[in-house]
Amino acid sequence: MIRIGNGYDAHRLVEGRPLILGGVEIDHPTGLLGHSDADVLTHAIMDAMLGALALGSIGDHFPDTDGAYKDISSLILLQKTHDLINQKGYRIGNVDSVVAAQAPKLKPHIAAIRKSLAECMGIPDSLISVKATTTEEMGFEGRKEGMSAHAVVLLTAI
Ligand code: MG
Repeated sequence: MIRIGNGYDAHRLVEGRPLILGGVEIDHPTGLLGHSDADVLTHAIMDAMLGALALGSIGDHFPDTDGAYKDISSLILLQKTHDLINQKGYRIGNVDSVVAAQAPKLKPHIAAIRKSLAECMGIPDSLISVKATTTEEMGFEGRKEGMSAHAVVLLTAI
């Protein structure tokens, strides 16, 4: 039995916030704004994991009205989401994802991001693909107003 899920997220870029993608802090003049650490990539992956089992969205499980999640590392939420899918009898088959950002160049950080996500879930990093693209200066990502991320997750029954 296999299940597939799709996730999308976007956050605004502002000064005075750290830029965190896949749990890795990246040196950059602006960072993502949100109730948690606003890790747009991790959020898209979590939403895809929940979607695969029709368990709603991260907003249902970790509401931004709950003070417990203020500035929380999204890796903690990813771990909880991974525990939940395990409890439901599924494990990660593979993850594919893409971050849309005009800047900074993410290529030098991809290996560290994959390792961070894999270690968080206790799975090999060969199961996690992370890609990056610019939008050729089009749209909010292209104007550096924000970043977005898409993820697809395949789950297989344990
Ligand atoms: Mg989000």
